Amino acid sequence: MEHMERAVATVVGSAVGDALGAPFEFGPPGAFSVRFPAPGSGGEMCGGGGWDPGEATDDTQMAVLVAESLLQQGGPDLPDIFARFQQWAAAEPKDIGLQTEDVLTNGMPWDLAAAIHFQVNQRAAGNGSLMRASTSAVYFARAGQSATMDAARRIAALTHGDRAAWEGTAIFHELIRLSLTGVDPLRALPDVLDLVDPGHRRRYAAVLATDWHPAQATEFNGAVWPCLGTAVWALRSTTSFEDALRAAIDVGGDTDTVAAVTGGLAGAYYGWEAIPARWTESLHVPLPGFGGRVLRVADLTDLARRLGAGLD
Ligand SMILES: [Mg+2]
Repeated sequence: MEHMERAVATVVGSAVGDALGAPFEFGPPGAFSVRFPAPGSGGEMCGGGGWDPGEATDDTQMAVLVAESLLQQGGPDLPDIFARFQQWAAAEPKDIGLQTEDVLTNGMPWDLAAAIHFQVNQRAAGNGSLMRASTSAVYFARAGQSATMDAARRIAALTHGDRAAWEGTAIFHELIRLSLTGVDPLRALPDVLDLVDPGHRRRYAAVLATDWHPAQATEFNGAVWPCLGTAVWALRSTTSFEDALRAAIDVGGDTDTVAAVTGGLAGAYYGWEAIPARWTESLHVPLPGFGGRVLRVADLTDLARRLGAGLD
């Protein structure tokens, strides 16, 4: 399989997961399978809970903002990414994480806002930096292991002052890089854990262990550890893109984000052909604050191809 096919599937797969999971946010476990008992039967991109069918949420909207900054600035320009986030937040998107909103609207400069939020609140290990990382993971894959993990940490730190969020995002970046180069990310997990900051390794080792199950989570999956752990579990415990997303959404809780992370990993792992076409037909990504633009799957594909240029 071509690298580019996996790169496109990473970005589109994450957006698909986001839109598929959004109507089930904060619902009970198993709600997706109760409503859609037979895999492959259609109608799953159903909308609801304020979301139109196929509408992607803040996870994908922020991933697109990161992508466009990287491409237009020709590399990581952290103040520019932060400014785009602020422009988006000011337009009152339908969904925005509490912590992300506070950091983007508290009036502090880009390099202090997240750190000061963490200092005051002491809690900043939400999944909000992990959820938007599909595009940056594709872009930095060509830069190699340490560069992609470092970029993940720095972009995460724009909104999340807790290093736990940086490390979870860095693990995700590296798992995508490995997948794009044809390496099995699940088999490589022990090596990836060695690259995690020592102070955070134990908690990630727990949720990424082969015998871990989402039922063992010690926090709500809006936190970064169980969110990443559930996405990896969903990939490990199923054998297709579709079934991985079904498993992720059936866990319940923060279903759009857990499915967005799962969709990124599963897209990179299985490639473009594995993403059901019926899930991309209605997929669309509104971009509040940016002139009413709405991206469709062709736009996401084009974006992913430009992000992944140089991979092959
Ligand atoms: Mg969301």
